[in-house]
Amino acid sequence: MHTLALDQIYSKYPRQYSSLRSEMAQAFDIAIRRARLRGHGDRLAEIGIRDGRIKAIAERLDGKGATEIDACGNLVTESFVNPHLHLCKVWTLPMMEEEALKAYQSMDRAMAGIELASKIKEKYAESWIVENARRAVALAALYGNLHIRAFADIDSKARLEGVKALIRIREEFRGIVDIQVVAFAQDGIVREPSATELMHQAMGLGADVVGGIPWIEFTSADAAAHVRSCFDLAQEFNKDVSMLLDDASDPDLRTLEMMAVETIRRGYHGRALAHHCRAMSLYPMPYVQRLARLLAAEVPHGHVDPGVGEIPVSRNCSRRMSWSASARMTFPMRITPTAATTCWKSPSSPRTCCG
Ligand SMILES: [Zn+2]
Repeated sequence: MHTLALDQIYSKYPRQYSSLRSEMAQAFDIAIRRARLRGHGDRLAEIGIRDGRIKAIAERLDGKGATEIDACGNLVTESFVNPHLHLCKVWTLPMMEEEALKAYQSMDRAMAGIELASKIKEKYAESWIVENARRAVALAALYGNLHIRAFADIDSKARLEGVKALIRIREEFRGIVDIQVVAFAQDGIVREPSATELMHQAMGLGADVVGGIPWIEFTSADAAAHVRSCFDLAQEFNKDVSMLLDDASDPDLRTLEMMAVETIRRGYHGRALAHHCRAMSLYPMPYVQRLARLLAAEVPHGHVDPGVGEIPVSRNCSRRMSWSASARMTFPMRITPTAATTCWKSPSSPRTCCG
């Protein structure tokens, strides 16, 4: 269906072709005209959407849309996915000292950066977080980012203010932007005594994903306990797990391995997502090879944030762990295939065609 040579391809199959043509002749909810598609050069296409799904892509649609959109020859793509956004912290830069940002961007001082930034959380209030998050998600929608995994800090300073705000925003944008709220134990679980109870309350409030950061604990034993605690909670509420792992210049960090082992042990295939993992770039090669075998056996699916620090793991992994960049860099969010598309006129004026 995703080709401009539809007539030619289906000319070999007249019966199927005729039923397809008759389906295509039906009215569409949305018809997009004069759309440029990736991989098709300057040729323009038309896209027919019905019941939230793309039903036809052809040079010329047989049928009209209840809503007709002229893409004016601009690129039409799938919507973008952001699997890692600290949505409770957007627009808070003026509230924190520049020092916190500089420290986090230096891989050697990532933990110091997190601790400096955490001062803001003493001022956390659902009311202003909602305002900031609304502004960010509205912008995301305008730029075609219609799926967001959104982290909300859960700890003694942030309490439940962030998660309550993001749940409100999730409901507000339902049907426009698909938001998964992650209850995220940013300051640790073992070293943060109230975190376990608060995380439980956050899941009870309706968070979608259990979020951890085991490398931030003070010992390896505590990190392992943190991982187990997240999986326990995820199993109790039948939710997925997302963890920020090994995000410092310490080649001895091993929380990606811990998460992989726990994923296998609990049969949590496809429901665990690993983020950051910057220490992978420093591992000795024999360990890289063993870890690659473990991850190939089962995955916490990998996700790398571009530009979080001075040693982007993607650059190193593509050199050292090609599995990571190719076979395993997939994203397990359960995104319903939809007709959500974005017409791009220019970076400053994107237009969402449908949500
Ligand atoms: Zn992050």
